[in-house]
Amino acid sequence: MIYFIGAGPGAADLITVRGQKLLEKADVVIWAGSLVNEELLENCSKCAEIYNSAEMTLEEVLEVMKKAEKSGKTTVRLHTGDPCLYGAIREQMDELDKLGIKYESVPGVSSFCGAAASLNLEYTLPNVSQSVIITRLAGRTDVPEKESLRSLAQHNSTMVLFLSSGMTEKVQEELLSAGLSPQTPAALVYKATWADEKKVLCTVGTLAESAKKNGISKTALIIVGDVVAHADYEHSKLYDPTFTTGYRKAEK
Ligand code: SAH
Repeated sequence: MIYFIGAGPGAADLITVRGQKLLEKADVVIWAGSLVNEELLENCSKCAEIYNSAEMTLEEVLEVMKKAEKSGKTTVRLHTGDPCLYGAIREQMDELDKLGIKYESVPGVSSFCGAAASLNLEYTLPNVSQSVIITRLAGRTDVPEKESLRSLAQHNSTMVLFLSSGMTEKVQEELLSAGLSPQTPAALVYKATWADEKKVLCTVGTLAESAKKNGISKTALIIVGDVVAHADYEHSKLYDPTFTTGYRKAEK
């Protein structure tokens, strides 16, 4: 059995209880050493075999899984944040399907949630934005043309950009060409929830300069939108005294 587990954004106590229990019991652990906190490995059994996937190819990862499965061992594949975002899990799962090896996923706290917590942000302020666009700039991995940053930014929704902090000039250029004002609030969060976290509030017009000034070019998220500056928003209907919900009658 293989468990794909979300390790959370960084702080070692942000893995889920379920994920931690499975990690404690695993015979084999393949962890994403480039972004997962090494402290998490202290939870592993002393006799667990540990592999760092940052130094491995897909074939090598699968080979370890295959071997473990043959000897009846349990494998944990530890991914950063939540495995469902930029986790390259589908390609592993498809191969496991072909091999008839069972697997299960355990969610984790994605870094976009970790970054919101670090900034005490609500991404979905009523009347400001009710959507979060999670995307990236094309790098070595292409982004389909229909999802170009320039076109997505035209929605003026809250945006969280993964894998793009090394290209802030291009991000800034694309956002401005989409018609966003240079004053649009933005933030850079480097290593959210880690001990060496850095958070920088800026605007779309000062994004590239702020990244440069603060030495941020990797392991960071770019957050764009009026919610970053807590723009004027309406209060939620859920807690409005004049509003009846399934759990509470409106006050007269
Ligand atoms: N599955 C992960 C994302 C993996 S892609 C998740 O859910 O968070 C790797 C990218 O995620 C990095 O380039 C960076 O943009 C972002 N990232 C991962 N951890 C981060 C953290 N603690 N703080 C800020 N960004 C992070």
